[in-house]
This record gives sequence, structure tokens and C-alpha cells, in this order.
Amino acid sequence: MNKPLIMTPGPTEVHEDVRIAMAQDITNPDLDLTFYEYYKEISCKLKKLLNTDNDVLILNGEGILGLEAACASLIEPGDRVLCIDNGIFGKGFGDFCEMYGAEVVYFKGDYRKAIDAGELKSFLENDNNFKLATLVHCETPSGITNPVDEICPLLKKYGIISIVDSVSAIGGEPIEVDQWQMDLVIGGSQKCISAPPGLCFVSISQSAWDIMIDRNTPIRSFYSNLAIWKNWYEEKWFPYTQPISYIYGLDCAVDRILKDKSSIYRHKRIAEGFRKAILDYGLELYPMDGHSNTVTTILVPNGVEYSQIYNHMLNEYNILIAGAFDFLKNKVIRIGHMGENCYEEKIYITLKALDATFKNFGIELNGELHKHFVNAI
Ligand SMILES: *Cc1c(COP(=O)(O)O)cnc(C)c1O
Repeated sequence: MNKPLIMTPGPTEVHEDVRIAMAQDITNPDLDLTFYEYYKEISCKLKKLLNTDNDVLILNGEGILGLEAACASLIEPGDRVLCIDNGIFGKGFGDFCEMYGAEVVYFKGDYRKAIDAGELKSFLENDNNFKLATLVHCETPSGITNPVDEICPLLKKYGIISIVDSVSAIGGEPIEVDQWQMDLVIGGSQKCISAPPGLCFVSISQSAWDIMIDRNTPIRSFYSNLAIWKNWYEEKWFPYTQPISYIYGLDCAVDRILKDKSSIYRHKRIAEGFRKAILDYGLELYPMDGHSNTVTTILVPNGVEYSQIYNHMLNEYNILIAGAFDFLKNKVIRIGHMGENCYEEKIYITLKALDATFKNFGIELNGELHKHFVNAI
């Protein structure tokens, strides 16, 4: 297989050290008690990454398992849940809530803008009788980062428990779980963390634990039941056998991030340079504000189809970029500048190929895309 450079907004490139870490010899993670200490150690590293003292669990499935587990464990039939929706993942959260019997109310924002915390505040002044609220930190399909630092404290004022999908933000955007009073936060291995797909992790506040433990009805799932994890360390018990090799990889990937003190700043700097290059070149960004520092979503210009760009990039330059799905299908190009992708060299190579691709299809734009990037950065 002629592996392409994967510049998609997850999965991302995986560093060689992470791949080598995954090849380490294994033990029996159920019976070897040293594995419980190891798991706890990684959980502590994730706490550091999230800036929290809350418990962090690593689950054996990619991000979607985290989203579903949060809904399955926290929601009881008839609960009122506020679904804060300004994109495909935000809206999809509502479907999970309904699946577990919630009465969902949508707070719908502009799909091309970040959630306006002021508007949400006015909304909550009139209706705030919610047990939970769901929101997405970075809407990966549209490339928009929401102000969770304003939204979560606002929800807390009304005693609303927050479930935050931060799968494509953690490691690339600032996150302060304790300071911002975020209750249940979900991260995934294959976005800015740059480990292979297959794991997610969740941080759980005391209030979120209390809700799970004091339910009137049982949690209608085993695999998605977070409550059964409550005493895993004290009891030296996991609900299922842990994917030890994936956890080796996650450990190494998180070490790499914690070691790099400038990781968040690098994401911001590269993202700003990337966007400036796109605009100087004469292309249009999908978001009108709230631009993500981990993924950029560009409107496909007139005169060329998304599939032509995608195929040319892959076949001629062996670079994999992404489109989007749902209502953005064939309308946008997405490039991930997250984790291991977020280095000037990889962005330069990608933009140079994109420049040649547009020229190949006769699309007239300003100058050279990769040179705009060099000038911007
Ligand atoms: C990637 C992602 C997920 C997890 O979805 P996958 O099935 O792993 O692709 C969840 N939420 C967001 C916002 C994501 O970007």
C-alpha cells in the first residue's frame, strides 16, 4: 500500500514513536495488577491535558462510543435535555439523547458561526429547566470552535450538567475542564492526540457521577454504562478486557503533547497562517467566525467539483484531504492541521499540491497558495 500523507481532520498522521510503543509486549490486563497502576497513570496524564481533577476513563471505542456512553449513562426517559446545535455533530447529539428517551429541546445557532453565548443566556432566562445540555467544542465538519469557556459556566448557573464533545479540540484548543466547570467531556484518540483510531476518553465531574449513580431506572446498556466503572481501581476490575496495545499508543501520544509546551500555540499560529493563505489566494472559508485551530473548511470554488480536487490530490500527490457529509457534501474541502499534521512542512506540501490542483483545473486565483502560507506565518 502506497500510504498517502493523511491531512484529514482525523484520523491524522501517527508519529513513529507511537507506532513503536504499540508494538511493546503485552500482559494480561485483567489479571496483572501492575496494569491497573499503568492505566491510572495514563488517566492522570489525561487529567493534566484536560486541566482537571475529575476522574478520567479510557474507553475501548472511538469518539462515538464516548458520546453514546454519556447519553446512555446520564439520561433517563422523560429528562429534558438542551441540545446546543450549530452543526452536524451538535444536531446528531440530539438523536442520541432521543434514543435514550430524552425530551430534547434544540437551541439552534447559525451553522456558519460559533454559538453566541449572549443569545444562549437570553434563551436560558426564559427556559432553563433542563437536567443536561449537550454541546460540541469543535464542529469538525464546518471547522468552527464554540466558546465552551463561556457556555459551560452559564449552564452551571442554572444547575444544568454539560456533556461536551471535545473530540476534535483536545490537544489543539485550550481546555480547562475544572475552571470552565465542564461536567462530562469526551476526547478521542485519532484527532489532535494523533494516536490511531480506536479509543476515547471521558472526564466525569462529581455531579455527573451523582446523576449516574442515583438514577431511578437502570442504564440500558452494558458497554455504554459509565457507572459500572466507578470503583475500577479500588476493586481492580474492568468491565471488559482493556485494549492494552492501543493504550500503549495513547500513552506515548499524550506524552508527546505534554512534553511540547507550545502545542496549543502552534495550532493557533499554523491555523491563522493557513486561513490567511486561503483568503489571500481568493478562496472562501465556510465559517464566518469561530474559526477552528484544528481544521479549516474551505468552500469549493465555482468551476471545479470536490471529487476532482480530492482525486487529483490523491492520485497525483498522494495526499489525502477530506470533504464533508450531510448538507456540506461536495460543497467543501477540509484540511486538518491537528496534532501530527500541524507542522509547517506538512501544510506547505499540502498547499503546494492544492495550488497545482486548482491550476490543473484552470481555476484562476491569486498567486501561489503555498507562498501565501509562507508569507503569513
Ligand atoms: C471525529 C469526531 C467524533 C468521533 O467520530 P468518529 O466516528 O471517530 O469519526 C465525534 N465528534 C466530533 C466532533 C468529531 O470530530
